[in-house]
Amino acid sequence: MSTIAFIGLGNMGRPMAGFLLKAGHQLRIYARRPEVFQQEAKSLVDAGAVACASPAEAAQGADYIITNVMGPHDVAQVLHLTPESVIHTAKPGAICIDHSTIDPQSTKDIAAVMAGKGISFVDAPVSGGVKAATEGTLVMMLGGADAEVAKVKEVVKNYAKTMTHIGGVGHGQVAKLCNQIAQVINIQGVAESLRFATVNGADLQKVFEAISGGMAGSRMLDLMGPKMVARDFKAGIEARLHAKDFFLVKDVAKESGIDMPALQTVASQLEMLMESGWGHDDTSSLLRVLEA
Ligand code: NAD
Repeated sequence: MSTIAFIGLGNMGRPMAGFLLKAGHQLRIYARRPEVFQQEAKSLVDAGAVACASPAEAAQGADYIITNVMGPHDVAQVLHLTPESVIHTAKPGAICIDHSTIDPQSTKDIAAVMAGKGISFVDAPVSGGVKAATEGTLVMMLGGADAEVAKVKEVVKNYAKTMTHIGGVGHGQVAKLCNQIAQVINIQGVAESLRFATVNGADLQKVFEAISGGMAGSRMLDLMGPKMVARDFKAGIEARLHAKDFFLVKDVAKESGIDMPALQTVASQLEMLMESGWGHDDTSSLLRVLEA
């Protein structure tokens, strides 16, 4: 069993940390808001996790340091940018595992800084949302050296259904961004399709039932179609997270000099969604953007 620091106890991080405790690992946890230890993460502390006052304290003696925060700056802040960061206390030979969705270049930059202190890095973003995190069935895409990825798999298998080693550091994030491109453009397609049905006076439920069994059928149609038909915009997947990822992809696409017209269109729809104040609602709110 290993000592594991877990930093970022949000909707995804809390259930994942719970699986590590259940597996018998020693857990050292850090949350930016101390009251989290009395509220959302109380069950982790009650089950034996050690509550720490900073990322640096959490990393003390840890074999693995897991981050599940938000964007590239957050991961850098936790790992090396501040006097309270992990880099000041982590032991050489420790392995950082980042489950946040960030861009590949920031990932490589952060890994290079950590490598300067003998600390390894594996990017391991996930797909499946809070439901899969809670059930321990996440789909994981890993980037890193073979030896480190093999060790990391032994830890993350506690909450992952599939673990695909894509390539070197940063390649896990490349795969995750590919996942987001295909997924969110599909959601926009579902929204436009159902908007078209409404405007042409067709019964939405019947259209959904018919097309989900045809060649338009997809996981996203199955997930988002019923929500759009029922106008249930309560978050399954919070739109702010898809927006963050799409803005990252837009920057990477620009730097790579590739043309991604559908991505550009959907990114501006997501911008309008965020401006409308629907960021904490479901991404099926792309339908509301079309209506507005
Ligand atoms: P969340 O907002 O519920 O939790 C994020 C946590 O990170 C919060 O507790 C926050 O306090 C902490 N945090 C953020 N910045 C920090 C910093 N600089 N220092 C310390 N703590 C910090 O978000 P989430 O849904 O748990 O998502 C976490 C990551 O997983 C994101 O990168 C997201 O894109 C990715 N992700 C989310 C989902 C999903 O469906 N929710 C699915 C796949 C991937």
